[in-house]
Amino acid sequence: MYEVQATAGTVYILRPEFGSDLLKELGDFVRAKGINLAWFSALGAVSRATLRYYDQVKKDWVDLELDRRLEVAGMLGNVSLLNGEPIVHAHATLADEQGHCYGGHVGADTLVFNLEILLTTLSGPAVTRKMDPQTGLTIWQK
Ligand code: ZN
Repeated sequence: MYEVQATAGTVYILRPEFGSDLLKELGDFVRAKGINLAWFSALGAVSRATLRYYDQVKKDWVDLELDRRLEVAGMLGNVSLLNGEPIVHAHATLADEQGHCYGGHVGADTLVFNLEILLTTLSGPAVTRKMDPQTGLTIWQK
Protein backbone atom coordinates (compact mmCIF):
# COMPACT_ATOMS: atom_id res chain seq x y z
CA MET A 1 0.00 0.00 0.00
CA TYR A 2 1.36 3.35 -1.03
CA GLU A 3 0.98 5.71 1.89
CA VAL A 4 1.60 9.39 2.51
CA GLN A 5 0.50 11.37 5.54
CA ALA A 6 -0.76 14.83 4.71
CA THR A 7 -2.40 17.64 6.59
CA ALA A 8 -5.34 19.65 5.32
CA GLY A 9 -4.57 23.30 4.80
CA THR A 10 -6.31 26.20 3.10
CA VAL A 11 -9.68 25.43 1.55
CA TYR A 12 -10.64 27.33 -1.60
CA ILE A 13 -14.14 27.91 -2.89
CA LEU A 14 -13.83 28.32 -6.64
CA ARG A 15 -16.00 29.18 -9.62
CA PRO A 16 -14.16 28.77 -12.92
CA GLU A 17 -14.95 31.27 -15.66
CA PHE A 18 -17.91 30.58 -17.95
CA GLY A 19 -16.70 28.89 -21.11
CA SER A 20 -13.29 28.01 -19.70
CA ASP A 21 -11.61 24.66 -20.22
CA LEU A 22 -11.97 23.10 -16.78
CA LEU A 23 -8.64 21.26 -16.62
CA LYS A 24 -6.71 24.23 -17.97
CA GLU A 25 -8.44 26.67 -15.61
CA LEU A 26 -7.79 24.50 -12.56
CA GLY A 27 -4.24 23.73 -13.69
CA ASP A 28 -3.49 27.45 -14.10
CA PHE A 29 -4.95 28.10 -10.64
CA VAL A 30 -2.90 25.48 -8.78
CA ARG A 31 0.31 26.47 -10.59
CA ALA A 32 -0.29 30.16 -9.78
CA LYS A 33 -0.87 29.32 -6.10
CA GLY A 34 1.99 26.82 -5.86
CA ILE A 35 -0.42 24.02 -4.87
CA ASN A 36 1.22 20.61 -5.37
CA LEU A 37 -1.24 18.47 -3.42
CA ALA A 38 -5.01 18.90 -3.07
CA TRP A 39 -8.35 17.14 -3.22
CA PHE A 40 -11.52 18.66 -4.62
CA SER A 41 -15.17 18.08 -5.27
CA ALA A 42 -17.50 19.99 -7.54
CA LEU A 43 -21.01 20.25 -8.90
CA GLY A 44 -22.65 22.35 -11.58
CA ALA A 45 -22.92 22.08 -15.34
CA VAL A 46 -20.77 21.88 -18.45
CA SER A 47 -21.62 22.95 -22.01
CA ARG A 48 -19.64 20.05 -23.47
CA ALA A 49 -17.30 17.40 -22.14
CA THR A 50 -14.69 14.86 -22.98
CA LEU A 51 -14.86 11.78 -20.80
CA ARG A 52 -12.11 9.22 -21.07
CA TYR A 53 -12.21 5.51 -20.36
CA TYR A 54 -9.01 3.56 -19.82
CA ASP A 55 -9.02 0.18 -21.55
CA GLN A 56 -7.08 -1.90 -19.02
CA VAL A 57 -6.36 -4.71 -21.49
CA LYS A 58 -5.17 -2.54 -24.39
CA LYS A 59 -3.66 -0.03 -21.95
CA ASP A 60 -5.06 2.77 -24.04
CA TRP A 61 -7.60 5.54 -23.65
CA VAL A 62 -11.00 5.64 -25.32
CA ASP A 63 -12.44 9.16 -25.58
CA LEU A 64 -16.15 9.89 -25.37
CA GLU A 65 -16.91 13.33 -26.83
CA LEU A 66 -20.14 14.72 -25.42
CA ASP A 67 -21.10 17.77 -27.49
CA ARG A 68 -24.08 18.59 -25.33
CA ARG A 69 -25.07 20.44 -22.20
CA LEU A 70 -24.90 18.28 -19.10
CA GLU A 71 -25.29 18.57 -15.37
CA VAL A 72 -22.25 17.79 -13.29
CA ALA A 73 -23.99 15.47 -10.86
CA GLY A 74 -20.67 14.94 -9.16
CA MET A 75 -17.00 15.51 -9.72
CA LEU A 76 -14.03 14.41 -7.67
CA GLY A 77 -10.43 15.15 -8.30
CA ASN A 78 -7.00 15.68 -6.95
CA VAL A 79 -3.76 17.48 -7.60
CA SER A 80 -0.39 15.78 -7.35
CA LEU A 81 2.95 16.00 -9.14
CA LEU A 82 3.94 14.65 -12.54
CA ASN A 83 7.43 15.46 -13.80
CA GLY A 84 7.72 18.06 -11.04
CA GLU A 85 4.59 19.94 -12.10
CA PRO A 86 1.15 19.83 -10.46
CA ILE A 87 -1.36 17.90 -12.52
CA VAL A 88 -5.13 17.91 -12.10
CA HIS A 89 -6.88 14.53 -12.16
CA ALA A 90 -10.68 14.62 -12.22
CA HIS A 91 -13.53 12.16 -12.66
CA ALA A 92 -17.13 13.17 -13.24
CA THR A 93 -20.66 11.86 -13.43
CA LEU A 94 -22.56 13.94 -16.00
CA ALA A 95 -26.36 13.80 -16.33
CA ASP A 96 -28.53 14.56 -19.37
CA GLU A 97 -32.09 15.94 -19.43
CA GLN A 98 -33.51 12.52 -18.59
CA GLY A 99 -31.14 11.99 -15.71
CA HIS A 100 -29.14 9.45 -17.63
CA CYS A 101 -25.51 9.63 -16.69
CA TYR A 102 -22.14 9.36 -18.33
CA GLY A 103 -19.08 8.92 -16.22
CA GLY A 104 -15.36 8.82 -16.53
CA HIS A 105 -12.03 10.54 -16.43
CA VAL A 106 -12.37 14.20 -17.37
CA GLY A 107 -10.44 15.12 -20.51
CA ALA A 108 -9.39 18.33 -22.24
CA ASP A 109 -12.04 20.52 -23.82
CA THR A 110 -14.54 20.05 -21.02
CA LEU A 111 -16.12 23.50 -20.95
CA VAL A 112 -17.57 25.13 -17.86
CA PHE A 113 -21.15 26.43 -17.87
CA ASN A 114 -21.08 26.89 -14.12
CA LEU A 115 -19.19 24.96 -11.52
CA GLU A 116 -18.93 25.18 -7.75
CA ILE A 117 -15.70 23.71 -6.46
CA LEU A 118 -14.38 23.07 -2.98
CA LEU A 119 -10.63 22.48 -3.14
CA THR A 120 -8.76 21.46 0.00
CA THR A 121 -5.02 21.96 -0.14
CA LEU A 122 -2.87 19.33 1.53
CA SER A 123 0.64 19.61 2.87
CA GLY A 124 3.08 16.80 3.44
CA PRO A 125 5.65 14.83 1.47
CA ALA A 126 5.44 15.16 -2.30
CA VAL A 127 2.94 12.84 -3.96
CA THR A 128 4.40 12.04 -7.35
CA ARG A 129 3.02 10.20 -10.37
CA LYS A 130 5.37 7.94 -12.31
CA MET A 131 4.77 5.62 -15.23
CA ASP A 132 3.76 2.19 -13.98
CA PRO A 133 4.38 -0.64 -16.47
CA GLN A 134 1.77 -2.90 -14.87
CA THR A 135 -1.11 -0.50 -15.49
CA GLY A 136 0.39 1.68 -18.22
CA LEU A 137 -0.67 4.70 -16.17
CA THR A 138 1.19 7.42 -14.33
CA ILE A 139 0.26 6.50 -10.78
CA TRP A 140 1.42 7.52 -7.32
CA GLN A 141 4.74 5.90 -6.51
CA LYS A 142 7.65 6.42 -4.16
ZN1 ZN B 1 -8.64 9.15 -14.10
